[in-house]
This record gives sequence, C-alpha cells and structure tokens, in this order.
Amino acid sequence: MSHKPSPGKTALVCGAGGFIGHHLVRRLKREGFRVRGTDLKFPRFSETEADDFIIGDLRDPYFVRHIIDRRFDEIYQLAADMGGAGYIFTGEHDADVMHNSAMINLNILRGAHTRNIKRIFYSSSACIYPEYNQTDPDNPNCAEFSAYPAAPDSEYGWEKLFSERLYLAYARNHGLDVRIARYHNIFGPEGSWNDGKEKAPAAVCRKIATAPNGGEIEIWGDGKQTRSFLYIDECVEGSLRLMRSTFMGPVNLGSDEMVTINQLVDMVAGIAGKSVRKRHIEGPTGVRGRNSDNRIIYERLRWSPSTALVNGLRPTYEWIHAQAMRNVRSNGQALHIPPATSKELMAQLND
Ligand code: NAD
Repeated sequence: MSHKPSPGKTALVCGAGGFIGHHLVRRLKREGFRVRGTDLKFPRFSETEADDFIIGDLRDPYFVRHIIDRRFDEIYQLAADMGGAGYIFTGEHDADVMHNSAMINLNILRGAHTRNIKRIFYSSSACIYPEYNQTDPDNPNCAEFSAYPAAPDSEYGWEKLFSERLYLAYARNHGLDVRIARYHNIFGPEGSWNDGKEKAPAAVCRKIATAPNGGEIEIWGDGKQTRSFLYIDECVEGSLRLMRSTFMGPVNLGSDEMVTINQLVDMVAGIAGKSVRKRHIEGPTGVRGRNSDNRIIYERLRWSPSTALVNGLRPTYEWIHAQAMRNVRSNGQALHIPPATSKELMAQLND
C-alpha cells in the first residue's frame, strides 16, 4: 500500500501499549496521522510514537468517555485481556477473559456511537473457528463461513465471537462503519519472547538463540501439528487496507503458508546457522491444524499477505537473539531461561 500522507487525520489506537497496537501507531505516524494511544501500560520494548498516550482502564466507561472525547477519523480496537502465561487457554481465568474483553468492547462501541464516530476496526481472532474443523493437520477449514455452528475451543474465542456480533449489531442498528479482521498468529520484533506469552515463532527463536550449536530443544507433541504465522508488517498493512476498504468483514487476516512446528524449527535453525536436535516431549498441542483461508480477503481487497514466513522470521530471530544476548550481558552470567510450562505451550500454539 502506498504510505499516502494523511495530514490532519486523527486516529485512536486502543491497546497501543501492546505488540500489534505499538506497530500500528508507528505506521499511522508515518502516514502523518495525529495519533492518540491508550492502554493499561506503555509499550515494553521501545517508546510509543503516539502524539498523546493515555494510561487507563478501558473497562471503565468514564475513562472511555474521556478517551473518546472528539471525532477520530479512525478507531482501532486492539485491547483485550490476553493475560500472561497460558492465561487464556487453561480455563482458570475464563470469567476474567470474557468479562474484561467484553466490557472493553461494550464501552468502546458505546463511546464511539455517542461521539458519532463512524469508522472502527476490531481485531478478532482465528480462535473463533470451531475445533471440529481443525482436527486434520493437512486440511484445517478456517473459511470465514465455517465459524458457524459455533464451537470455539476457548472462552477467549467465544468472547471474540460475541464481540464480532456486537460490532455488527452496532453497524446494523446505529450505522457504525465497522471493520472486523480475524488475526491468525501474528509475530515479529518487539513481541513477547520470554514472558510465557510468546507464540511459537518467538519461542522457537528464543530456544534456538540460546541453544549451543548441535544442542537440543524441546518440542511438545510430535511437532506435526500445523499452523500459519503472519509477520507483523503484513498484519498492519492488511488492517489498514481493510479499514479503508468498503468491506466490513469478518475476514481472515493471516498467512496461508502452512507449516508444521518441526518445519518452523528447521527454518529458524537455518537462519541461525545452527544444527539442533528436536526432543519431542509430552505436552498439550492445541488444535491439530490451523491455516488462514485467504480467498475472501483476496477477492474483496485484491490483496493478501505475501511475505514468506522465512522472511519474517529473519528480523524476528535477529531481534530475539539481540534481546537474549543483552540479558546475558546484563546478568553477567550464562543465560538461564526456564523451560516453558505446558500452560505456556498452549499460549504459543493458539490464536
Ligand atoms: P497484546 O496483549 O500485546 O495487546 C493487548 C493490549 O491490550 C495490552 O497492551 C493490554 O495492556 C491492553 N489491555 C488489556 N486490558 C486492558 C484494559 N482493561 N484497558 C486498557 N488496555 C487494556 O496483544 P496483541 O498481540 O497486540 O493483540 C492485539 C489484539 O489482536 C488483541 O485483541 C488480540 O486478541 C488480537 N489477536 C492477536 C493475535 C496475535 O497473534 N497476536 C491473534 C489473534 C487476535
């Protein structure tokens, strides 16, 4: 997409302290937007480029009213209770996950409606797809229409599905111009890499960056489970393209380059120039197969993500390698990263 300057345009990014929101703010600033970011926290690895950044809790309707105090040209709603290690997939935090994220979406939609804001983007997830269509690693079905009859495998997915419907209801009843993308496994620099929230690409990069050449890394299950991973720049590009199109969605925003976890490990090892042995150990592995079906996004936007996985993994590995080495230097000792728990693995494989 041409980075057309949009001087004078305004955007609000909710969840701007998070991984995708932080990158999105950067891109909007490059386009000349005046950007307000909001989150519970500032971005973790580098300073926000937002013109103003307001810390606060989007579950609080008064705070939301304060944040949406003018007509923004574009609102991006990325804030969600994603929690920490294995938070969303163990069942232990289901009530919080559903309550917190639903509250955020309810408040933001009401706030946008009362300010007569038109264009609002919502980040849904591949986790809304029914488990029964993702049992064959070679042929998962994640076509948009296959979302119903609904049977997501987590409450996180159910909340996303509820909120998709909430956005669509506001579009129907109040004329909001909503855009809904179902993100599939986004990765890249400045994402979680060692806090238990990291996804498979970051976890594999970290394990290989910290393993000696010829060393061994642990893989849960047989490593034959399949996934696709979308590089962050493509995620931002696709989100902006959808936002500025006439297509409401919900639409998949993911890569359709499906790989097994074993293949992912081989790719990262190749980038690192290391040989590693894989030790397959027992552990939960999430759905057996998942891939983005990109027919509709291509049909409607005449665009779909095209960055090869290996090309996204290179800068990601480089960044994680640098982080890991910085840790070694600042600790003045050999790097010790505790092995991920099975809960963490669930977080790595889902979404
Ligand atoms: P992230 O956790 O890095 O960002 C989410 C942000 O929301 C966090 O910074 C968090 O502090 C903020 N937040 C949570 N509760 C809040 C509250 N009450 N008030 C204000 N801010 C709050 O996640 P991300 O990877 O950047 O994902 C962004 C969005 O995309 C999320 O909605 C997520 O569900 C969705 N998504 C992400 C992926 C992925 O692979 N990263 C896949 C599918 C969907």
